Amino acid sequence: MKNSKLQTQHPKVRKWQCVANCGACCNLTPEDRPDLAEYLSSEELELYMSMVKEDGWCINYDQDTRKCQIYDNRPRFCRVQPDNFEDMYGVEAKEFNEFAIACCQQQISGVYGKDSEELERYDHAISDNPS
Ligand code: SF4
Ligand code: SF4
Repeated sequence: MKNSKLQTQHPKVRKWQCVANCGACCNLTPEDRPDLAEYLSSEELELYMSMVKEDGWCINYDQDTRKCQIYDNRPRFCRVQPDNFEDMYGVEAKEFNEFAIACCQQQISGVYGKDSEELERYDHAISDNPS
């Protein structure tokens, strides 16, 4: 055994976080989210559809500041937290961080592109944020 210390270390666990100046998840284009009806109640689905502008962005999203204008009152489906993810997607609390990180990366790639500055900033923030 060359390095017993190394072998007893736990793998690094990444912690989800949102980054400033992103807003990718506020692009609600329904065609990009074909499974909406599987995880939203009928009331939530109705609310969701009522929030989508013609260009796909949320009516509550400020494109200049890239911020939500109703942040404290945003719907449940906008809130990235373990209890919501368990309810909506059946994701166990211990899987929350990796699942939420993957959601952000997928959404940022889809909205801004795989080579975007936004994705680079996100990946950098996550790699600097072990739990
Ligand atoms: S996609 Fe992720 S990082 Fe970007 S605004 Fe939404 S929660 Fe934040
Ligand atoms: S309500 Fe706010 S957080 Fe939710 S999609 Fe709209 S702008 Fe984004």
